[in-house]
Amino acid sequence: MQSARPTTRPTTRLAPSPTGALHLGNARSFLICWAMARASGWRIILRIEDLDGPRIKPGAIESCINTLSWLGMDWDDAPLIQSTDLTPYIDAMHLLASRALTYPSELSRTQIELAASAPQEGAHDQHFPSSLRPPLIPHEFDPANTSVGWRFATSSGPVTFTDLCAGHQSIDPAQTIGDFVIWTKRAQPAYQLAVVVDDARQGITHIIRGNDLLDSAARQLLLYRALHLTSEPTYCHLPLVRGSDGKRLAKRHGDTRIDTYRALGVPAEAIIGLIALWSGVLPHRQSLSAAEFSSGFNISTLPPSDITFTAEDHAWLLSNIRK
Ligand code: GLU
Repeated sequence: MQSARPTTRPTTRLAPSPTGALHLGNARSFLICWAMARASGWRIILRIEDLDGPRIKPGAIESCINTLSWLGMDWDDAPLIQSTDLTPYIDAMHLLASRALTYPSELSRTQIELAASAPQEGAHDQHFPSSLRPPLIPHEFDPANTSVGWRFATSSGPVTFTDLCAGHQSIDPAQTIGDFVIWTKRAQPAYQLAVVVDDARQGITHIIRGNDLLDSAARQLLLYRALHLTSEPTYCHLPLVRGSDGKRLAKRHGDTRIDTYRALGVPAEAIIGLIALWSGVLPHRQSLSAAEFSSGFNISTLPPSDITFTAEDHAWLLSNIRK
């Protein structure tokens, strides 16, 4: 499998999963990614990860695209919607199976659910030790067979890389996760495989996302190497936005969805202004356009710690509603 590099221009991506509505936390990661791209003249593409997760509700893709546009983000080229063509993932599976780097495996329903989506903090990945692995032999991969899933035979030893934000990393996926699922019984690629295949074929040079996916980067680098992809990306895993209890921003912290604030009449500039305070662009909350955010953003002044979303932040957003 060759990595397609359509251009030598640095390229990044917005890769939302239209499973849950965009909230303030993931909007911040997307906005930073977009701002870095636009300020540096990189290409930025939109990829809809609709294989990521069990159910995509009707209209979710359109609504996700609409929310990103409303916030002021744009992208180059038409969006790639993963579910429209599974061929690239099937081709990658044929390669890995012929190289005896993946094997069929019986999976429980929970394991399938876990494998399908991008692992986020608090989601418990099960460790699957290589001692449970059958002897590795080349296999014929049949994408239509829904009686088995497939695991990647994780090689042991640390994967090292330097993250633009999180610094030097040494992660040993054989210790942390073991043999992970790359193809599910739903006859679909799991998140880890789909993301590597797409990042490679779309010529992605920079991956900017929340640091709940830092561990996944090591798994993804193993897949790059197993697929003989030479173009490994540069990673930038951003600190997360948390609720006042210290947990990753989620439903329990109230409704922080962008669409909810939008429906209440909060302008996009207010949301960006709060994200600007959280991102070292402004010293205080103040309405800002996406373009102003982009010209003011500098990765070297991004606060290195996680951000706490407070009741005052919420009240300030509401205070911007135009009467
Ligand atoms: N689709 C994933 C998510 O929304 C992001 C995957 C990635 O950036 O690699 O959590």
